[in-house]
Amino acid sequence: SLWHALFAQSRDGVVVLDQTGKVYETNQRFADILGYTMEEMYQLHVWDWAHGLTREDLLGMIRDIDGDGHHFETQQVRKDGSLVDIELSNSRTFFRGQKLILCICRDITERKAAERRIRYLATTDTLTGTSNRGEFSRRLAEEIARAHRHGRPLGLVMFDLDHFKRINDRHGHDAGDAVLRGVMEVVRQRVRLGDAIGRWGGEEFMLLLPESALPNTLVTAERLRAGIEAQRFALAERVTASFGVVVLERGEGFDALVKRADVALYRAKSAGRNRVETVSKD
Ligand code: GH3
Ligand code: MG
Ligand code: MG
Repeated sequence: SLWHALFAQSRDGVVVLDQTGKVYETNQRFADILGYTMEEMYQLHVWDWAHGLTREDLLGMIRDIDGDGHHFETQQVRKDGSLVDIELSNSRTFFRGQKLILCICRDITERKAAERRIRYLATTDTLTGTSNRGEFSRRLAEEIARAHRHGRPLGLVMFDLDHFKRINDRHGHDAGDAVLRGVMEVVRQRVRLGDAIGRWGGEEFMLLLPESALPNTLVTAERLRAGIEAQRFALAERVTASFGVVVLERGEGFDALVKRADVALYRAKSAGRNRVETVSKD
């Protein structure tokens, strides 16, 4: 009766399955996790709640499970159809000549949501919703390595809003923030899936174009330039940006590539802004 009390009062969901996948024994906590009554629980089979696995998959798992069992994260389907994140450990036992599977199920929905939130905050610029500098750098390093390995082209565009300090001064910081978000929306609508956008600094952004050589990278930058210039931002004046365009050259590393994009951007600024410039490696 001690074991039964522990089982009944466990803070984790506990369910014992027989070889046919039917509930043999369970506790209130598991019924609560899935949203069934205890009575309903005893009518269920494991495929009534296991998410993404067929009856055949599950019967195969029950047949093959050995004494060591398994420990993994999964999802289960509640009575109302919603999904719950579960950390599950199972093991096999024999009782009165019958093979039984013991599953301990911990509801980790909150932990998974927190993990997703942390991952989002660690990789995203929350003002514009684009990748932050760290995440963009990680992706850029990855794409540089891939481009060198396979001898593929890689385009990089660095752009910076023109006279943005003036926009802030005239219209306030909140209006400036709205312009940053609006510009990113214009950019997002004009790039290919698989291109990466990142916020590099305050009003300075980068666009990474895998598989893109110089002509296409220049055309893309020009399309962004024209799109930003054409967009009305509820301000009296136009918003424009200057663009530095480069493509990865043989043997070139991360720092050298970014430096060259910066030089190209500087060239666009000094040549009068609202334009696209490129710099080749000499
Ligand atoms: P240039 O054409 O030479 O780039 O001129 P600029 O005024 O854009 O250049 P500068 O780099 O001197 O100024 C950038 C301004 O961007 C200064 C800063 O206040 C503003 N800024 C940076 N980050 C943010 C932000 O998140 N929100 C807002 N509203 N402004 C920002
Ligand atoms: Mg600027
Ligand atoms: Mg700047």
